[in-house]
Amino acid sequence: MKRAADWVRAEILASRAYVVPPSDGLVKLDAMENPYRLPPELAAELGERLSRVAINRYPEPSNARLKEALRAAMGLAAGLEIVLGNGSDEVIQLLSLLVARPGAVALAVEPSFVMYKVCAMLAGLRYVGVSLRPDFTLDEDALATAIERHRPAITWLAYPNNPTGNLFPREAILRAVAASPGLVVVDEAYFPFSGGATLRDEIGRHPNLVLVRTVSKLGLAGLRLGLAAGPADWMGELEKVRPPYNVNVLTAAAGEVVLAHRAVLERQAALIVAERARLESGLDRLGIVRFPSAANFVLVRMADAPRAQEALKGRGILVKSLHGSHPLLANCLRLTVGTADENAKLLEAVALLARTHAQG
Ligand code: PMP
Repeated sequence: MKRAADWVRAEILASRAYVVPPSDGLVKLDAMENPYRLPPELAAELGERLSRVAINRYPEPSNARLKEALRAAMGLAAGLEIVLGNGSDEVIQLLSLLVARPGAVALAVEPSFVMYKVCAMLAGLRYVGVSLRPDFTLDEDALATAIERHRPAITWLAYPNNPTGNLFPREAILRAVAASPGLVVVDEAYFPFSGGATLRDEIGRHPNLVLVRTVSKLGLAGLRLGLAAGPADWMGELEKVRPPYNVNVLTAAAGEVVLAHRAVLERQAALIVAERARLESGLDRLGIVRFPSAANFVLVRMADAPRAQEALKGRGILVKSLHGSHPLLANCLRLTVGTADENAKLLEAVALLARTHAQG
């Protein structure tokens, strides 16, 4: 006794901590970050504001001003109830805890964002994965059958989906909401790149629909700030699960300052969308198999993804290999859209790879 292995649950012992690979000196195209920094004037204003924050005090737990700034930035109705998280990662964890009764099921399509499964495991939910089709489109019949059979307490749908990048049909999501006895969470982490596609206007029209958003992909990944928005009863219960000071004072102040200048971030998102199109056509010219994306990354399939990832790293570019994470993702790489220069460098490296492979 007295050792971790004697007390920690078997499923935690069997799991692995989230791995973030070292990226020093590399072009970082592995984590769906916005590649642009804040303009110097805004950075200076931020520094000035942060210097005045009372870090000797606990945060003000209602975060009323920050919530107002977030609602405005995300086009959420003024009165809408929202609950904040330390990144949407934490929101996902809190929602999982919220419905974790003995025997309850969490359902997600696969492949999708891994934290749905990880948080289900940690919360003690039984996890059910419903496979997408090989082209990563939604298998609506399989989803309907799984909902009917497992009666999930919570169902996760990322819109657009990670790591595939596509948008499932909006009507199919609404059908899943209608058919679900439990909560359906639509995770719109990649909304800034979706061309306006959102289920935002559906919140409040369904008793079991919750939206999750984050400021991370918009350019504030380091702040760790995400939110859930939904019906008042669900948000009221979620608020009880939230640690009172989960959003720290520096994050709250920085969020208020930067979101007041959200046009800066929106222009950066528009640049990323334009660069995505250039990256996609570059990949097409090279004959690389790729999947449609409404996000800030492009999923591609190579002859040998782990080898391609290593080769790209050798040329100073870090991308994510998804090979081995799900059978449908065999030999897939996820390429985050970077700056014009970074994407040009990536395309050049991919071209070299494609040539070497063709020869060898
Ligand atoms: N949802 C989806 C679909 C994601 O891909 C990610 C990040 N990769 C998150 C949520 C979490 O984002 P964050 O914790 O930075 O808000």
